[in-house]
This record gives sequence, C-alpha cells and structure tokens, in this order.
Amino acid sequence: MQNPEPKKKFGLIVVLTGNGKGKTSSALGMALRAVGHKLHVCIIQFMKGDIYSGEIDGLKWLAPLVEFHQSGKGVCAIQGNPIPYHEHRASAQCAIGQAREEIHSGRFDIVILDEINNALQLALVDLPQVLELLDTKPPDLQLVLTGRDAHPKVCARAHTVTEMLEVKHASLDGIEPQPGIDY
Ligand code: ATP
Ligand code: MG
Repeated sequence: MQNPEPKKKFGLIVVLTGNGKGKTSSALGMALRAVGHKLHVCIIQFMKGDIYSGEIDGLKWLAPLVEFHQSGKGVCAIQGNPIPYHEHRASAQCAIGQAREEIHSGRFDIVILDEINNALQLALVDLPQVLELLDTKPPDLQLVLTGRDAHPKVCARAHTVTEMLEVKHASLDGIEPQPGIDY
C-alpha cells in the first residue's frame, strides 16, 4: 500500500468545534494517524486536570513521537468548580505560553491545542494571543484547535472547520460516560 506524498506540503489550520461529541476524539485520531507517518505531535490540553481521561495514559504508548501536556484546573464555567477564575486564567496563560514555544520549537509537525476554543470563549486566553499563534506559525506546521464556540476570527483563518452537530447524546438518556468512548 502506498500513497503518493502531497506534491506540496501545506501546514493546515484545522478547527473542530460545535456542541456534538467528537472534537477531542477526532484530534486524538489525527495524532494516532500521524504516528503512522512517524510525524512528531505535540498535544496541549487546556482546562483539564480535574477528570481522568484515557488519553493521559494511552498517549504514553505513542511516545516519543507524541508529547502530551495537560494544563488547567477543570472547567471553570461548570457549577461547583471551587477554583477562582484567576487561577484558571493563570494556568491557561501558562498553557498558551507553552503552545507558542512548541509551535516555534521546530520539533513538531503537528500541534494540537485541545479545548483552546473554550478557553478563549471564557477569556482565560485572549483573542490576540490565539490569532498570533495562527498568524506566526511555521508554514509547514499543522495546527489543530478544538473546543466549543470557536471564535469567528479563528474560523476565518482556518483551512478546515468542522462543526460537530449533536443529533443525540447518550447522556440525555441518563447513560453514564463510558471508558474509551467518553473519557
Ligand atoms: P470527546 O472528548 O468525546 O471527543 P468533545 O471533545 O467533542 O468530546 P467536550 O465538550 O470536550 O466534547 O466534552 C468532553 C466530554 O463530554 C466527553 O465525555 C463527551 O462524551 C462528553 N460530551 C461531548 N459532547 C456532549 C454532548 N453534546 N452532551 C453531553 N456530553 C457530551
Ligand atoms: Mg473536547
């Protein structure tokens, strides 16, 4: 089985947004696919760190081609998260600083910024900071941004934008999140 290499390498900006399930899973799927090509992938997750999800350990199997960094103190908009806003913001600021570094490090073919759209929507990071990442990324670098409520200016700069549409979600039938599928 052989696929021709693309005639011209193009560093895409891909946005995965919308309310339906599948944004983070799709980004992780790209990381898996990239490893098959021996590409180097950096994944930075924003606003996580409160709930265990299988990729935390699953991605260890893909090292050293995949580097995984989790940041955050959970979803600050969700009721009951007792951590003050400024702590959420500080940790998102740390993550976007790291994103900037890794994007320009020359070490990666693909950088995935998981839940950065939500972080922007919640003002944990600022629009100029995100746009700067998009506008200054190396031309060959593939950049993937996930999370609900993607900003229109981010979508405008992207080459591929997918909006996940919730047709149904098991949680609406009271079915608990299932390992491997939901976390
Ligand atoms: P996934 O990580 O499963 O790809 P996602 O990244 O599209 O989901 P998030 O908003 O990041 O969605 O939410 C992650 C968690 O919330 C997952 O456990 C997922 O199953 C669940 N979830 C995603 N979409 C919905 C929805 N529309 N209704 C309820 N729960 C959802
Ligand atoms: Mg997600």
